[in-house]
Amino acid sequence: MARWLHGLGVSAGEATGPVARLAPPPALPAETSAVEDVGAEAARVTDALEQVAAELERRADVAAGAGRDVLFAQTMIARDPVLADGARDRVLAGADAPHAVADAFAEHRRALEAIGGYMAERVADLDDLRNRAVAVLLGLPMPGVPDPGHPFVLVAGDLAPADTATLDTERVVAIVTERGGPTDHTAILAKQLGIPAVTACAEAVSLADGQLVLVDGEHGEVVADPSDELVADAQRRGRELAARRAASRGPGVTADGHSVPLLFNVGGAGELSGPALAQSEGVGLLRTEFLFLDRTVAPTLDEQREAYGRVFAEFAGRRVVVRTLDVGADKPLPYLPRPAEPNPALGVRGLRLGRANPELLDEQLRAIAQAAKSATAEVWVMAPMVATAEEARAFAATARGHGLERVGVMIEVPSAAICAREVLAEVDFASIGTNDLAQYALAADRLAGELAELLDPWQPALLRLIAGVGAAGAELERPVGVCGEAASDPSLALVLVGLGVTSLSMAAACVPDVRAALAQRTLDECRELAGAACEATSAVTARAAVAELARKQSLGAGAQVRG
Ligand code: PEP
Ligand code: MG
Repeated sequence: MARWLHGLGVSAGEATGPVARLAPPPALPAETSAVEDVGAEAARVTDALEQVAAELERRADVAAGAGRDVLFAQTMIARDPVLADGARDRVLAGADAPHAVADAFAEHRRALEAIGGYMAERVADLDDLRNRAVAVLLGLPMPGVPDPGHPFVLVAGDLAPADTATLDTERVVAIVTERGGPTDHTAILAKQLGIPAVTACAEAVSLADGQLVLVDGEHGEVVADPSDELVADAQRRGRELAARRAASRGPGVTADGHSVPLLFNVGGAGELSGPALAQSEGVGLLRTEFLFLDRTVAPTLDEQREAYGRVFAEFAGRRVVVRTLDVGADKPLPYLPRPAEPNPALGVRGLRLGRANPELLDEQLRAIAQAAKSATAEVWVMAPMVATAEEARAFAATARGHGLERVGVMIEVPSAAICAREVLAEVDFASIGTNDLAQYALAADRLAGELAELLDPWQPALLRLIAGVGAAGAELERPVGVCGEAASDPSLALVLVGLGVTSLSMAAACVPDVRAALAQRTLDECRELAGAACEATSAVTARAAVAELARKQSLGAGAQVRG
C-alpha cells in the first residue's frame, strides 16, 4: 500500500528508486578505555584526523564548483591545529583517542551553537568530521554516502556538505532528509546538481534500506511503496520534462518578444560546463563569500583578483553581477572576530560590516575592478543588506571610486523595498533577494523548516513589496532583477516579470523550466497574472489564482490559434 510522507520540496523533479540510508554514525563506547602508551595514543589522534582530511581532499579534487569549495573548507577544519591540540591534550589527561576526539569536537560544536543562525547550521559539518574521525579510530566503516551498486534514493537524517558535494548524479536519483530548512546546504547543492530533493521530512525515519520510494522534489512529497501506476505516471512526467528541457534553449524571452535575461547564481568558477555554460546569458549573483568563509586568514588582493578573473573569463562577453561580501553576524569571518549578537540576522552583516571594517570592502572592490579591467565580461557590482538610500549612495560612491561603472544594490531589507525609488535613484540597478526579503518581511527565520509557509515567496506581502520595486525601476528606467529562490519557480517567474522584474537569476538546472514558461506568455499576460497574485489574501490563494488564470490564458491562446 502506498504511503505519503511530507516535507519541503527544495529541488524540483521526480524520481523513483530503492532507499539507501546514509551509514549511521559510529557509536562511541560508554567508557574510555585504559591507555598504556599515551604518546602512541596521541599519535593515533593525529593520524585519524589526517586520514579524514586526506579523504575529503581526494573527494574535493574530483568535485566541482560550490561542492569543491565546501569540501576544501571541511578539509581545513579537519586540519585545524587547535582541534588536534585539543584532542591530544585530552589524551594526555587520560582519555582514549576516540573519546578525546569526540570531546574536542563537542567543544567546537558548542561554540558554533552559541553563535546561532548560519553557524549553528554548520554543526552538521562538524558532526560529520567527528563521526569520520571516530570511525577511523574504532576501525568501523567510514560513515557517509552508501554505494549499493545501483541507482538509489539517498535517505539521511541530515546531509553534511561533504556528502552532497561529491554525490554521483548517475547513482543518486533523489535525496530525502529528515531535518533541514528551505535554504540549507542540501537544498542549495541538490538544486545545483539537478537532483530532486525533499528536506524536513521527519517521517523519512521510517524508510528502510531497499524500500521503493517515489520522490517529488517540487511538491515535497515522498511516496513509500508507490503503485506501478504512480511510478509509470511519474516516469511519463519525467520524460515530458526532459524533452521540454532539452528543447528549451536560447535567451529568456516572452511569447511577444520581451527580453528577460535568465542568469545563473554561482559561488565561483568551474561550476558549469558544456551547453549550460555556452548558452548561459551570464551570472546574476556571484556569492563571493564562498571565498571568505572557512579561512583563518583573509584572501589576499591577488587571490581575490584571480578568483573573480576566472569567473569573468568563463562568462566572457556576458553580464556577471558580483555581490560584495555577505558575511558578518550569523556568518562570521574567523579572522575578524566580532562580539556575539543576540539577533544575528538583524545585526552587523553584509554591507554593515563595512562600518567597522571599511578596508574589507575597499580591498574587495579593488580586486573586482582590477579583474574587470582585463575581462570582456560586463561586470556589475552590488552590495547586500542595503537598508537606506544613504547606504546605497555611499556604496555607489566607493565602487565608482574604484572605476566600477555598473553599481547596484540588493533589495532584501523591507525598508529598501519600501523606499525603492530613493534607493534606486542612487544606483544603476537593483536585484531583489527574495530569500532575505521574505525572512524580514514575514519575520520568519529562513533556516527554520517549520516556518516554511511564512517564507513562501508567494506571500502577497512579499509580492506587493516586489511590485513597488518593479514600479520604481520602471519609473527610473533602472533594471530590477530577482536573484532569490523565487526566480526559479516557473509560475512565480511569470508573476515577477509582470511585476516589472527585468531579469531572473537562479541555479542553472532551473533555467530551462523558467525559459519554457516565459516563452508561453506575453508580457501583458504576465501582468495579468501578477495582478491576480497580488490581490490574493494568502500564498495558497495567490498560487491557485495564478494557476487558474494561466489555464484560461492557455485556453484563450488555443482558441485564437484555432480561430
Ligand atoms: C536572498 O537573500 O534572496 C539572496 C539571494 O541572498 P542569499 O540567499 O545569499 O542571502
Ligand atoms: Mg540575502
